[in-house]
Amino acid sequence: MSAKIAIVGSGPAGCYTAQALLKRAPEAEVDLIDALPVPYGLVRYGVAADHQGTKGVTRQFDRLFTRQGARFFGNLRIGQDLSLADLRQAYDAVVLATGLGADLRLGIEGDDLPGVIGAARLTRALYEHPDAAGLPDLGAHPVVIGTGNVAIDILRLLAKTPAELHGSDLGPGPTAWLAGQGIRQITVLGRSAAEAARFSPVMVKELGELSRIDIQVQNPAADPEEALNRAAAASHGPLPVVFRFATRPLTLAPRPEGLALTVETPEGRDQIAATSVITAIGFDCDGALDRAGLLAEAEAGAVSGQGRLYTAGWFRTGPTGALPQCREEGQALAARLLAEVTPDPARPGRARLADLPGVVDFDHWAQIDAHERAEAAPDRCRRKLARRDELLRPALSQNA
Ligand SMILES: Cc1cc2nc3c(=O)[nH]c(=O)nc-3n(C[C@H](O)[C@H](O)[C@H](O)COP(=O)(O)OP(=O)(O)OC[C@H]3O[C@@H](n4cnc5c(N)ncnc54)[C@H](O)[C@@H]3O)c2cc1C
Repeated sequence: MSAKIAIVGSGPAGCYTAQALLKRAPEAEVDLIDALPVPYGLVRYGVAADHQGTKGVTRQFDRLFTRQGARFFGNLRIGQDLSLADLRQAYDAVVLATGLGADLRLGIEGDDLPGVIGAARLTRALYEHPDAAGLPDLGAHPVVIGTGNVAIDILRLLAKTPAELHGSDLGPGPTAWLAGQGIRQITVLGRSAAEAARFSPVMVKELGELSRIDIQVQNPAADPEEALNRAAAASHGPLPVVFRFATRPLTLAPRPEGLALTVETPEGRDQIAATSVITAIGFDCDGALDRAGLLAEAEAGAVSGQGRLYTAGWFRTGPTGALPQCREEGQALAARLLAEVTPDPARPGRARLADLPGVVDFDHWAQIDAHERAEAAPDRCRRKLARRDELLRPALSQNA
């Protein structure tokens, strides 16, 4: 008898878990449900527009639906269009892989002022997420807080010339926005010492290769061969990008042309005049689901009458780990789930979703994907449809 498994969230965690489940149990009924009309979560809306190699993983994920028998149920938000309790009654197991959709706040005075922009908000707007707010004005001197790979991604895009964005899928609106920002300096703040910065050396090396950038490092790592020191030595462009380590933000206050950021440094307090502050310090749950309660419930194990609950990806781990970790964890979760779950033939599984209004399937995504690729400008690999009504159009025209 085959298990019926619903995975909520079709980002990397959901897809890798589905892949591993169907590899171990090809007869299982595995359904990926997403609030968006398109699959793949942060691969589409987080991974940088100019890192198409990384985004290539979607070809592997496509095979879930074209070869492995998984089904996609898009435009279906659990907790809104269908309750989690209903879903758990319909399936033998439910995996929550809904990611973390909100920005972690700095937790200092003034962190909610206009001009303070979270990395999730900014990248969603840059990558044309249908629920994104508009792109903000950054002004001549944005300050980026955080030295992880997301901070470096944002920095790289801000520093690139239009020619250096060739081959990406950055849309015309965000491209024009980038060109119009008139940035004259970027400061990057890290609380830790340079040696403890979380960025990967490969990302920093790429930064050093940009034509416009001039990396300067305050309180650098002692080793001249360290990635950022090497990038600084190699970069000689007109745009100063100043990394300041061991620098802790204390307060933010408004000033006529932006924000006054008070920081603590090894030399004492200092004030930085920023035109905007981009926080890239991590992500948090958007509050739509009770994450703490659901993590505890999944940990507690089986509940009579309901499909067993599991959690995966960033929803489970918090905002750490990249695609390889999602893959590894997905494999471990699939093995555990299949060992623990006893299929119940009375559960309807995907039949429960059949009549829900507005739900879209994988063919719908295939049409959008083909359309976006066909419409790409010569220097782009895709022209993303940005609005929800545009993303739903293939399904609407099918049903007309
Ligand atoms: C800006 C950025 C850049 C990154 N770049 C890289 C990179 O270059 N390389 C790399 O390896 N990793 C990168 N990462 C990390 C990688 O994206 C994460 O490890 C991975 O996406 C986590 O996967 P996930 O499935 O847990 O979450 P997500 O990818 O966020 O997927 C969650 C999915 O759940 C859906 N969802 C949410 N709520 C509901 C609901 N109630 N009902 C139904 N569906 C719902 C969402 O629409 C989404 O599709 C990056 C992360 C960020 C933020």
